[in-house]
Amino acid sequence: MYSRNMTALLPLRPCVFFDRDGIVNRSPGPGYVERVEDFHLFPEFVEALRVAREKGYESVVVTNQKGVGKGVMTQATLDDIHAALVIQLAHFDLSLLDIVSCVAIEDHHPNRKPNPGMLLDAARKHHLDLARSWMIGDHERDVQAGRRAGCRTLFVGPPEKATTADHRVDAVADLPGFLRRHLPEISADAIGCV
Ligand SMILES: [Mg+2]
Repeated sequence: MYSRNMTALLPLRPCVFFDRDGIVNRSPGPGYVERVEDFHLFPEFVEALRVAREKGYESVVVTNQKGVGKGVMTQATLDDIHAALVIQLAHFDLSLLDIVSCVAIEDHHPNRKPNPGMLLDAARKHHLDLARSWMIGDHERDVQAGRRAGCRTLFVGPPEKATTADHRVDAVADLPGFLRRHLPEISADAIGCV
């Protein structure tokens, strides 16, 4: 009797993974965004998200939030901040497929970037095609997490900062234009299966 796992027939979708602080919202510097009032969305991120959607990509935020693990802030506050992000994006008629955070303190935790756990988990959960996905971040640990997950990588930061990323732009302001020019368009018939 022939049978097969039906989940194997689900199409794999490419995704743009975005780091949060410094990409989605203004970086808090060395600390953490600890209050909803201190979460300031970058308009250029909104535009970048729109480009990703127009080109056929899912979008997921992957963020290290050790402040929760350290007790500097609560999980409830982090959830409130992410709820505020979802609401702000809805005003632009945009949404994220998921917001994944790692609150672990230990650097060796498999989900804490530069480890790729958050990307791998999201890929399994949402049937994402990592090989055609991109990771965008403002820190080398984002680049490493993206590479370890098998994604193309894009670093956002000034020219004096070294990176091993596949691509780089100087600032978040350059993101929408870069993605418009370089993010490959995904046509409906190019979506692969497992
Ligand atoms: Mg960052």
